[in-house]
Amino acid sequence: LSLLKVRDVARRFSSGTLALQGVDLAVERGEFLSLLGPSGCGKSTLLRLIMGLEAPDAGAVEWGRLRPRIGVVFQEPTLMPWASVLDNVALPLRLQGQGRDERQRAARAAIDLVGLGGFERAVPRELSGGMRMRVSIARAFAGKPELLLMDEPFAALDEITRLRLDDELQALARDQGLTVLFVTHSVFESVYLSTRIAVMSPRPGRITASLPIERTATGA
Ligand code: ADP
Ligand code: ADP
Repeated sequence: LSLLKVRDVARRFSSGTLALQGVDLAVERGEFLSLLGPSGCGKSTLLRLIMGLEAPDAGAVEWGRLRPRIGVVFQEPTLMPWASVLDNVALPLRLQGQGRDERQRAARAAIDLVGLGGFERAVPRELSGGMRMRVSIARAFAGKPELLLMDEPFAALDEITRLRLDDELQALARDQGLTVLFVTHSVFESVYLSTRIAVMSPRPGRITASLPIERTATGA
């Protein structure tokens, strides 16, 4: 049973733009799936439908058993600039109604996972772009997601930081048995990171290919 199935989905904006049509996509548990396509092909729109922020005009987004816990990471980290790293990471847990001790423990664990142990009291303004992105990933991880949705998360970072985060994310996803749907317009990044690439084409947006990538023990 797939974790997620997008079935024959269409989305037309009130402006008249047909952003998606006939989109079919199954996401399997444990895979690292890149959604690859040029700007404007409908990747973000598809992600918003999966997040439930918008409804499709036709077709359906279906969940395997239960709807999994979802973590989301965007290109803009949207952190509270003057709140500590710890408070930023713990905020969603607070909104979920978790108690103080419980959410601090989960937040600290997530901060350690992304290599920011020791920076709990720092505020985002003091951190580099790469570190702020790690805070944003920690915030998503603190909620113990089963499915991580990432919309061009590293696009604004310099190439070296981006490569480093690609490596860290890949190891994290593998170690935590996470399912990842990673939106990118970088062929390089999709090949480097994923276990499968779903290629999207524009006007209207649709999935035109599904390419499994075999990973060897010596390769990434
Ligand atoms: P991508 O993420 O691949 O760059 P988007 O999903 O953002 O693509 O956009 C797909 C198409 O839908 C584009 O033509 C874009 O201009 C259009 N679009 C996206 N959001 C809206 C909106 N809220 N209203 C009207 N058109 C939109
Ligand atoms: P960049 O985004 O500048 O490439 P990274 O986020 O990859 O930097 O951070 C590289 C390392 O440098 C981090 O692991 C961290 O230990 C250190 N570092 C970066 N910025 C700061 C800072 N503002 N204060 C302390 N250490 C930092």
